[in-house]
Amino acid sequence: MKGERSVQHNLAVQAEKRPHDIAVKYKDSTLTFAELYDRASAVRDQLLEMELPPRIAVQPANELKYVIIIHGLILAHIEMVMVNAHLTESEVSRQLNSIGVSLIITENHYTALSCIMPETLFTGTADRTAITTYNPEDILSIMFTSGTTGVQKAVPHTFENHVASAERCKESFPFDEQTKWLLVLPLYHISGLSVLVRSVMVGFTVILFDKFDREAIVRAIAEEGVTHISLVPQTLEWLLDAGLKRHQLQGLLIGGARLDARTLEECQKRQLPVYTSFGMTETTSQFITASPLDMVNHPNSVGPVTDDIKVAAPLNGAGEILVRGANVMSGYLYPEEANRSAFSEDFFMTGDVGMIKNGYLYVLDRRKDLIISGGENIYPSEIEQLILSIPDISACSVVGLPDDKWGEVPALVYESDSELDDKIDETLKVMAKYKRPVLYKRIAELQRTRNGKISRHRVREWLLDEIQ
Ligand code: ATP
Ligand code: MG
Repeated sequence: MKGERSVQHNLAVQAEKRPHDIAVKYKDSTLTFAELYDRASAVRDQLLEMELPPRIAVQPANELKYVIIIHGLILAHIEMVMVNAHLTESEVSRQLNSIGVSLIITENHYTALSCIMPETLFTGTADRTAITTYNPEDILSIMFTSGTTGVQKAVPHTFENHVASAERCKESFPFDEQTKWLLVLPLYHISGLSVLVRSVMVGFTVILFDKFDREAIVRAIAEEGVTHISLVPQTLEWLLDAGLKRHQLQGLLIGGARLDARTLEECQKRQLPVYTSFGMTETTSQFITASPLDMVNHPNSVGPVTDDIKVAAPLNGAGEILVRGANVMSGYLYPEEANRSAFSEDFFMTGDVGMIKNGYLYVLDRRKDLIISGGENIYPSEIEQLILSIPDISACSVVGLPDDKWGEVPALVYESDSELDDKIDETLKVMAKYKRPVLYKRIAELQRTRNGKISRHRVREWLLDEIQ
């Protein structure tokens, strides 16, 4: 064991401070902070008795037992590798091999890995006095990035990263002990796990959902006094379709991808307090957030910049977004070579291109997805935003294709029930000619990552194959 273990676990603090308040509600079950601490402590003792390696994987569903197991692992100071529940065995094996892990808590019966069934962790009794403090520099979780641009990278998050992320979140997206945060984003993502961390930091209630049942979520918001919810743009759209209204909501935190203008407008019409944020696995959840007021005064921005954000070597104002702070990881565990181009002095290079105007940050696109055509930079998302103004197009993706004359040219793939080429021609007239896609392809469903993000990298591979 390294360093000094001097900070008291937040769950232990909350169990003392507000033992009878609800920590988590799942379906018809609830656990108070005292109950959660007792049950997690019992899991911790069981884990310690099993003499496990210092780093193991867990493949959680959004269920109460996994909330207990996650807190148990945290209390046991076992580094937990969070594994996406939808992966196949070979995908899980590949991820775990890359960081030297062979043990996983899962309900799946994998043959090439050693599996621990979650139920076997619930047989011990708790000794509350065992471990109550931790070292901020220790790793709490390890997560893989979404793989939107290719290889998934393994990101370690220390306790300090998590605490700093929660503090940063609180400044721009206020919450307190009265908060009831509906959590339907997966626990194996930083957007999901970070809600559990925030809950035990301030003592608020998590209302946990295991699947995205839009009617049930809209009902919970109407009937259970939900104040906060985190969503990705796609799930926000589903809730709008299901008739989402404000009720007691104080904030809807949207992140992970760009929120399109049409959806935002619909939210504003319904007076939903939408906060748009920008962040990534490497920053232990969102880094910067625009409040509803920011979004009126600075449309399309992701919030006000601080000293911890800058845009590197801007050309016409646009450059790579660099960030720093205690919530930023200190380096990838895998692949190691990714670290060579990940940092510039004490700043992390996000791989996203943006610009700062009047003190506000605008995210333009991913550096890897920029299309350079005849020496001009083309941002695929600018074209995609315009295409999405066509009501019958539910999603789209613009990618660069090799071109003898221009180097690269943009091409469009769109999701729709009908051919809309004429409508697209018409819509694109407002845009400079060099930015207009040279071909359009309709598809029933765009290529997405396991996390539901449209992957231009995969769209491009598909398109190159199609047009051969
Ligand atoms: P990989 O790094 O493996 O290619 P990924 O970058 O999609 O995958 P995540 O960490 O889940 O993995 O996502 C972070 C990325 O999501 C950011 O770097 C950015 O490109 C995108 N993103 C997040 N928020 C926004 C936003 N508000 N607007 C535009 N893009 C966003
Ligand atoms: Mg990334």
